[in-house]
Amino acid sequence: MKEKINVLIQLQDCDNRIQAITNRKNKAPLTVQKLEDELKGADLKLQEDNNRSEALKKDSRTLEQEIQELEGKIDKSNEKLSHIKSNKEYTAALKEIEDVKKLINLTEDKAIQFMEEIEAVEKICLANNEHQKEMKKDFEQTREEVEIELAALDKDLKNIENERTQFSEVVDQDLYKKYLFLKERKGGQAISPVIGGVCRTCNIGLPPQKYNELQKRDTLLTCPNCHRMIYWEEEQTEEEG
Ligand SMILES: [Zn+2]
Repeated sequence: MKEKINVLIQLQDCDNRIQAITNRKNKAPLTVQKLEDELKGADLKLQEDNNRSEALKKDSRTLEQEIQELEGKIDKSNEKLSHIKSNKEYTAALKEIEDVKKLINLTEDKAIQFMEEIEAVEKICLANNEHQKEMKKDFEQTREEVEIELAALDKDLKNIENERTQFSEVVDQDLYKKYLFLKERKGGQAISPVIGGVCRTCNIGLPPQKYNELQKRDTLLTCPNCHRMIYWEEEQTEEEG
């Protein structure tokens, strides 16, 4: 019986390690995914800022054009002035020129505002561009690391699976059925160590009358609380690794 129990313990150990590696394998790509999403977000933001900068430049050019046209109007009006005879007409023409000049001032103010805005947006774009380069580097590096990690995990997994196959070939078939049944229903843990008289999985203390029986490993006992198979394990036996 002792041998049979030992095989089950080994099987459980293999399965626990397989589970741990599987968890890590599932988790590892999430880091890369997160960085990729961030990078995409930054890309989008940069694109938006670039578009905004382009739109502002276009509007700014339109304003420059408007100013030029208005200045042309003033030139024409000034030329007209020299041909005007009546005072009334002269005053009206001057007033018209004044109005256009005011409009030019307003448009110029707007143009300056646009230029300042363009400058600000371009500064942001430049900074974001730099930041993005860093993000990209970080992403590439992490992706590489994760690939290496995954390859190592696959290798470990294969080794443990081989190890497990060996145990599954020598395990007592009835116990193995029970093991698989419990493993399926008990969150992966079918057989639990009892350390210091306590079931390590559900943390319930076992009656001291059972200690002797457990220590001998002559029969396979069941935890009265979680109903897993249990076996005695001496305290401070941290030989894992
Ligand atoms: Zn238990």
